[in-house]
Amino acid sequence: MFQQGSCRNFSFYKVLDTAIEYLKGIGPLRSELLKKELGVFTFRDLLHHYPFRYIDRTKFHTIKGIADESTPVQLKGVIESIQMIGERQSKRLVAQFKDATGIIELVWFKGHNWMAQKIKIGEVYIVYGKPTLFKNRFNLAHPEIDSLFEYEQSQPSAFQPVYHSTEKLRVKGLDSTGIRKLLKHLFTQINHNHITENLSEDLRSDFKLIHKFAALHQIHFPDSSSNFKAAEFRLKFEELFYVQLRLLKLNLVRTNTIKGFVFSKVGKLFNDFYTHALPFELTNAQKRVIKEIRTDVGSGKQMSRLVQGDVGSGKTLVALMSMLLAVDNGFQACMMAPTEILAQQHFQTFKELLGMLPINVELLTGSSTTKERRRILAGIASGEIEILIGTHALIEDKVIFKNLGFVVIDEQHRFGVEQRSKLSRKNTQPPHVLIMTATPIPRTLAMTLYGDLDTSIIDELPPGRKPIKTMHFMESQRLRLFGFMKEQIALGRQVYVVYPLIQESEKMDYQNLQEGYDNLAVEFPIPKFQISIVHGKLPNEQKEFEMQRFIKGETQIMVATTVIEVGVNIPNASVMVIESAERFGLSQLHQLRGRVGRGAEQSYCILMTGYKLGQDSRTRMETMVRTNDGFEISEVDLKLRGPGDIEGTQQSGVVDLKLADLARDGQILQMARNAAKQILEEDPELNSITHAPLKNQLHEIYKNRPDWSKVG
Ligand code: ADP
Ligand code: MG
Repeated sequence: MFQQGSCRNFSFYKVLDTAIEYLKGIGPLRSELLKKELGVFTFRDLLHHYPFRYIDRTKFHTIKGIADESTPVQLKGVIESIQMIGERQSKRLVAQFKDATGIIELVWFKGHNWMAQKIKIGEVYIVYGKPTLFKNRFNLAHPEIDSLFEYEQSQPSAFQPVYHSTEKLRVKGLDSTGIRKLLKHLFTQINHNHITENLSEDLRSDFKLIHKFAALHQIHFPDSSSNFKAAEFRLKFEELFYVQLRLLKLNLVRTNTIKGFVFSKVGKLFNDFYTHALPFELTNAQKRVIKEIRTDVGSGKQMSRLVQGDVGSGKTLVALMSMLLAVDNGFQACMMAPTEILAQQHFQTFKELLGMLPINVELLTGSSTTKERRRILAGIASGEIEILIGTHALIEDKVIFKNLGFVVIDEQHRFGVEQRSKLSRKNTQPPHVLIMTATPIPRTLAMTLYGDLDTSIIDELPPGRKPIKTMHFMESQRLRLFGFMKEQIALGRQVYVVYPLIQESEKMDYQNLQEGYDNLAVEFPIPKFQISIVHGKLPNEQKEFEMQRFIKGETQIMVATTVIEVGVNIPNASVMVIESAERFGLSQLHQLRGRVGRGAEQSYCILMTGYKLGQDSRTRMETMVRTNDGFEISEVDLKLRGPGDIEGTQQSGVVDLKLADLARDGQILQMARNAAKQILEEDPELNSITHAPLKNQLHEIYKNRPDWSKVG
């Protein structure tokens, strides 16, 4: 069994906590740079500065054989001459490097002096770098360069690690090779006694995880591909394991310590709505999720539940019925939406659906008048208002509920974690919280971002929906597009035309939007056709006016920016045209497409792009044309963009993962989560001696993080 002796612990701290300046080969200057540039303060930090890839340094290329810019090459040759050329900004050091097959230029734009000193004419060097094509010739800019002696000294391996470095570090000799040397030194000073094995022997044998020291050594200096894989697996598992252990523990703490309001009965409002007002049968998925929510709110524990469902799967109704449950039990409920348009629309929908039922629903947004606001604030303070719909306006301090029992957060990705948790502090005892995502999130990301929440999935669309047909058109097909729009309008349908609006290019984008609108106005002239236009710069009343014209069917075309992206629900609109579609991300495209296909008619989505498309853009278009399944699309999105660029991940710490990759390591993640779950089931507080190292490590990792314990 694993034991954590205090003596071992002592040496562990002593060595790994040593300030980096005490490592051989680092003086005060380099240590300052390592701190500033890489955040490496101690031996431990250096140990966790992992290589980002590995190269085969035993293989040589020839200069003649260089064929493209994408593959790095290793060359062996002599420097024939060396020369400073250019002035000021374009000043650079250029060396002619020759092997048996030809000559190539090595170029340095920075750190010339250091290089000029290092390089000796006529000597053999090994250079490594990525070729760039300049004026039809390949050169190597800022290659790694070693003398033959240095090369042999470095014991070149087939898995040579490559480390991130920076220009400033390179100038001081800490390029990838320099950092590798530091790690070599480090490993002469540490051994397995200095590295605490924080995973129990059971865990390691169950999942075939190698010892931590071996893993760390192999990740820096792999001696075979199988050893490298074992090391990578061990370290990835560990990373994901602690994230999951923390999330599951948060969940346990919440369910065990936070008391929730008990909604003991299904009352008259809920029943009357269900039997008399509901215009259609609920889908089985909706029924299942409502049942899950009912169980939660009846349990005496505080609910924090995430509902995932594809665009158009009917999440709003689930929210509404849950809120009715709250009201039936004497509580108030509120629902926060990310945009004014969406809040407005929910309000309208609820008013219509609730019709004659004796319930008081109000809307509070940034554009509510002072008078309205005063009335509404009084109404929620007195308890007269039972359901409040709104935007961010809901979280302001002045909004005080009499007895808030249930909170819905719609299209949550638009909200920061802090905004979310503010809402749940609107009662002394936290209300139940239902979070609804806009687009499906990849499984791995959901497990990590919302791993402390319980989740429900609506995996079924209301019956009778025809899958949306998606087409990808190029500019030359614009006339065909116009013809198609006319056909559809003649059938009584309505059309959205959406333009990208990116902050950095706002001016150009508005110009495009305006031009697009002008062209449409020529192609679709008044009085036969009417066109609405909606974008963020319009005053709210005008936006609302234009929306209403479209909703009432007075206009046939709605030209808009992505203000209509989420949630908007106008069933008669059956064509979504997305201009410059290559500029949108996949989840955004899917959201936009989800604005159509809401009625009984066949709907269409047309992606307009230019001819020149990068590989990623092409994949996005192909994915959209191929499938309507939001879950599948979210997986492709994650692979293309990586987790750091997906909305909502920035503050979550997901991006802190060093080795594990949520796009690729789903299996390891699932294993790690299961392992964490099993351990917590046996020992929720991690109080047993066997789990002491886990508990310590967990504390160690999270002690300096802000505690965004989500909503609740
Ligand atoms: P989302 O999940 O994207 O928020 P909505 O809640 O806006 O979807 O629902 C989309 C549309 O489907 C709405 O017009 C809604 O009235 C309708 N709808 C919801 N549930 C059902 C159902 N069970 N049967 C038929 N239509 C439904
Ligand atoms: Mg919705």
